[in-house]
Amino acid sequence: MKKIFIGTNWKMHKTIKEGQEYCRELNRIARDKDERMQLFIIPPYTSLTTLRDELDSSILLGAQNMHWEDEGPFTGEISPSMLKEIGVDLVELGHSERRQYYNENDIDLNKKVHAALGKEMIPLLCIGEKLEDKEMSISEESLSIQLKICLKNISSSQAKNVLIAYEPVWAIGAGGTEAPADYVHKMHDHIRKVLVELFGDIGQDIKILFGGSVNRGNAIDYLKGSNVNGLFIGRSAWDLEKFEPILNDIEQFLQLN
Ligand code: PEP
Repeated sequence: MKKIFIGTNWKMHKTIKEGQEYCRELNRIARDKDERMQLFIIPPYTSLTTLRDELDSSILLGAQNMHWEDEGPFTGEISPSMLKEIGVDLVELGHSERRQYYNENDIDLNKKVHAALGKEMIPLLCIGEKLEDKEMSISEESLSIQLKICLKNISSSQAKNVLIAYEPVWAIGAGGTEAPADYVHKMHDHIRKVLVELFGDIGQDIKILFGGSVNRGNAIDYLKGSNVNGLFIGRSAWDLEKFEPILNDIEQFLQLN
């Protein structure tokens, strides 16, 4: 059974109480969904412990970042063991906001990918080209570089546990522009090519999710790409009144395919 991954990063939004209400409702929605739809949520750190208890075990719980060391003099950081202790399933790494505002770079992200895998948590590695890259027609080169550095020295057997989120920086958030579906499909095909180059046949099985201004009007068009294995959604998933219809559309899409 091939799964598609559908999830959301809450960024710096929602109190613990708001998160609990969201999870209770999402649990209800998820109960009658196709088993091929693997849902996940990525709340702020402060909610993780409470939401671990609230969330159905069929839905993955993720953290928005972590350090690569297990402990040490790194004020303000959270370690892989700390997340593991809470029961976190997945760690988002390298979101473009972290790269832009907190100077995250591919070399450090490579350490984080190794650290997550070492603790048997799923790294959700975010990559994406900037607007300048796209304008210079070097989007594919930019994606190749990010993948090759972030996944350096990851073995093929480890690589099958990695998730990739392709998020063009120019398509993300309130100021973002929706990416045309054919462009997204082309970039996913390129990412697949690089993953196969790096990991052989295993590269065919690595899930590649798309994120950036996904909404009800474009979600299914993105999913039609043969190398699009899920969606990573921000604003359109923070309110379940908006998210539930998208999930219903995806459910229908899965039934027809
Ligand atoms: C994001 O910031 O990663 C994201 C996908 O956000 P949005 O869907 O709101 O563009």
